[in-house]
Amino acid sequence: MSELHLPNRIRRFAVERRDRPAVTEGETTLTYGEFDSYTNRMACALTSLASAPGRVGALLRMGLPGVATFVGCAKAGLVFTPLNWRLTPHEVAAIAVDAELEVLIVESDFAASAAAIAAAVPGLRIVVVGDHSAVAEACPWDEFVAAGEDTDPGWGDDPETELLQLYTSGTTGRPKGVVIVHRNLYNVPETFALYEFEDDSVSLNALPLFHIAGAGWLSTSLSAGLHTVLLDELRPPLVAAAIAEHRVSHTFLVPSAIGMLLELPDLSTYDLSSLKVIAYGASPITPTLLARTMDTLGCRMVQRYGMTETMGALTALRSGDHDPRGTRTHLLRSAGKPLPGTEVQIRDIATGEPLPQGETGEIVSRSRNNVSGYWRRDAESAALYTDDGFLRTGDAGHLDENGYLFVTDRVKDMIITGGENVYPVEVEAVLAEHPAVAEVAVVGLPDERWGEAVTAVVRIADGVEPPSEQELVAFTTGRLASYKKPQRIHVVDELPRNASGKILKRTLRDTLSTSDTASR
Ligand code: ATP
Ligand code: MG
Repeated sequence: MSELHLPNRIRRFAVERRDRPAVTEGETTLTYGEFDSYTNRMACALTSLASAPGRVGALLRMGLPGVATFVGCAKAGLVFTPLNWRLTPHEVAAIAVDAELEVLIVESDFAASAAAIAAAVPGLRIVVVGDHSAVAEACPWDEFVAAGEDTDPGWGDDPETELLQLYTSGTTGRPKGVVIVHRNLYNVPETFALYEFEDDSVSLNALPLFHIAGAGWLSTSLSAGLHTVLLDELRPPLVAAAIAEHRVSHTFLVPSAIGMLLELPDLSTYDLSSLKVIAYGASPITPTLLARTMDTLGCRMVQRYGMTETMGALTALRSGDHDPRGTRTHLLRSAGKPLPGTEVQIRDIATGEPLPQGETGEIVSRSRNNVSGYWRRDAESAALYTDDGFLRTGDAGHLDENGYLFVTDRVKDMIITGGENVYPVEVEAVLAEHPAVAEVAVVGLPDERWGEAVTAVVRIADGVEPPSEQELVAFTTGRLASYKKPQRIHVVDELPRNASGKILKRTLRDTLSTSDTASR
């Protein structure tokens, strides 16, 4: 029996931690014993609707039904397939068709999406959380769970059994279904020391289930046997209130959410003293924000770098490497070192040849976390790997002499201006140091003279006099080589982001190219 297998870990906690809190949502807390029974019922109820390895879709916010469906699927050999409820009914129906869903568990708020999915997927069985009359021919959640027996189906622990089908964030194109097997989670227990988990740690899970960061952090806190607090939406005031109410010690947040948390006008009224560690990742963070977070919240920070295709982290920047006042501040720009069992190399973007230390190219990795490929996308699955079996991340970066990885940017976002390569993240980090800049994104826009022009899009902090374009450009003088300096600056009220808080640079490029052409 594998100790690393997620359902086996939960089965063990059901005995060893029977009366200790397992999961809390709002006013409801289940102990590990109760959580075990609840997920047994889910597993049996699901087995009556689908057989392994059927895809069970979920249009659910982070909450007990979602977590129970995830673990119920794991106990029954079914594949949990959380869907992005922020998408339109049309978009989510396309994903449901792609996934070949057999069952859908849906919150009644998402009735329009459920109807679109039901129309697109004949024979789909639907279970509704909330007002079940909102969705035609659906079974109410409570009845569904009650009908399941409290018996563990005892599905085996083959590491290659499929567990999750997660769709990528769709930052660079349409979302792709990534098939995750149990083996891809087997290094999770090796990361517990990194987060400094203790026996009584309380973990806040506020990221959506459908995103790798949400699913990954949930898997981590369940595997560690922590008390897992669920928050249905990543709204900064709710995050602060949940930390204070449940004495949360650990959480995972994306950089945009950390920024918004610090901007809360009444932040000091919440008692956040229980917070020990914030893990973060999913998009680049600026050293300025890291230093501010550590100063304001007085907690330790751990960065993870990875992607859906690697089931979470390839590298991590440990808390000890976050030292804004020390002599190693350059490490605040690093994504840290490869996790145990993970190898990271840098390859030439054009030729695929390995590059010497210090040179920038595509980051590739070899690890047991890495998935075999995408669901029903043979060509894209084949392109995911190099001939010698390394996963192509699509990100550019370099390794320093001590083995620290620096993620420069996505290969697709690299700007080529006057024949020089510019990585937007580097320009963003400099502009973020300007006190008036709350948020910034840098993209390359078509330019007759330079090929592409380095273009910065900034949101100015509330209550601050907006600096002129010349002042912002001047601020980068001496901090950036002249070819990297922004050639144009646009001020906006809001940056376009997807559900994981990532700035949609292709949307920015499209809107700015159109408006530039229009204004000529
Ligand atoms: P799609 O593949 O559909 O375009 P996506 O790449 O945003 O979307 P995810 O798998 O959710 O989908 O995100 C992985 C990407 O997020 C990485 O390839 C990298 O670009 C970025 N990322 C993740 N962690 C970090 C980090 N710590 N620092 C910088 N970038 C990060
Ligand atoms: Mg990607």
